[in-house]
Amino acid sequence: MDTRERYAKFILPVVAQGVEPVVVASARGRTVTDEDGKSYLDCFSGISVVNAGHNHPKILAAAREQMEKLVHCCSYVYHVPVVGQLAEKLSGVVPGGPWKSFFANSGAEAIEGALRLAKQATGRREIVALGFGFHGRTIGTLSITGNQVRKKGNGPYLPGVAFGPAPYCYRCPLGLKYPECDVACAHALKDVIRQQTAGDVAAFIAEPVLGEGGIVTPPAEYFDVAARIFHEDGALFIVDEVQTGFGRTGKMFGIDHAPNAKPDIYAMAKGIAAGFPLGAFMAREPVSEAMKPGDHLSTFGGNPISCAAALANLAVLEEEGLVENSARRGGELLTRLKRLEQTAPKVGEVRGRGLMIGVELVRERQTKEPAPQDAKAVRAAMRERGILVGVGGAYGNVVRLQPPLSITAEECDRAASTLEDILSP
Ligand code: PLP
Repeated sequence: MDTRERYAKFILPVVAQGVEPVVVASARGRTVTDEDGKSYLDCFSGISVVNAGHNHPKILAAAREQMEKLVHCCSYVYHVPVVGQLAEKLSGVVPGGPWKSFFANSGAEAIEGALRLAKQATGRREIVALGFGFHGRTIGTLSITGNQVRKKGNGPYLPGVAFGPAPYCYRCPLGLKYPECDVACAHALKDVIRQQTAGDVAAFIAEPVLGEGGIVTPPAEYFDVAARIFHEDGALFIVDEVQTGFGRTGKMFGIDHAPNAKPDIYAMAKGIAAGFPLGAFMAREPVSEAMKPGDHLSTFGGNPISCAAALANLAVLEEEGLVENSARRGGELLTRLKRLEQTAPKVGEVRGRGLMIGVELVRERQTKEPAPQDAKAVRAAMRERGILVGVGGAYGNVVRLQPPLSITAEECDRAASTLEDILSP
């Protein structure tokens, strides 16, 4: 039995049926190699995770060294040096510190913790999230996810959640046009609080760029307005940096593009540790002090190997100037691919920040009817030509380019030329 047959037979079909027909044997840098020896330029990074590239030697060395010393003793039962070191490092990396961290194992777990902390810190119980936002696949995180496709089959969800209009300019839910709209979708959050909540909002949670929603990229000033509205209400702002963090958008964090938004709680995962499982939520005093001893814990949270990898990952991002490379290469790539809006009839919009770029495909430009089958076909055609890309979006019609941040100009050119070729009429 080969790997694909084993998946079909022994892995739940919920994932086994959607898996790409590539059996990955190894990966290094931006190259993924399958078991037949075919190599691919990776433009998806294991869903936006390996920002420093696959199997970076310095990150592997740090993880290996830590593994030889200690794999697990529970970082919340005993003190573990590397856990303290990572928390100290992150406190300096996230603007506006000092910050205190809680380390978890995944994005969803980080978000769950952030929600608990916000509720305990404010004594309030309601959450406001965004239409087409995505925050994970636990019951709590699905409750604040604004997308039926992700939620179906599991309702009813937690009460006390309201949704603001998606800041999705291409398909504006308010029927307006940017910039004349003056980010009306952000101002509308005031009405969401007034009309849809009991005035007991603990936090507003949002992604700086809505990744799973289709690389929906709110105008830069959106978060300044949104955060102000919630802060004036006495609620906290939780920023979900799970997908946008660690240089993905051309700045260290996605919310750095809106420097006045000032989150109270950061949630992160994915790019934090270059593929080693790790999530985190962070807050400043007094919010950070709201959970009392015993209120929260995680057996594997703060795993020493993952924390060592995360520390090395942060060093690599800095040493190799990968955040700057994300801004430069991403800017060039976006400018080039934007031309497809004119030349390729099926391209509705190309958008993004840094190396987080989405190409939204439609049946025809006039109607904007989503073309999810075309997005899958483009992904398959790219794969056949040796390039891995993702597909996502609220309507499943967005081709996602999220390569390792070390991607070169030549590799960007190859990815762009191939995409242009596939999408040209
Ligand atoms: N938040 C965002 C913005 C995400 O993109 C994801 C995953 O895609 C999550 C949370 C959940 O992370 P995980 O899959 O690690 O639980």
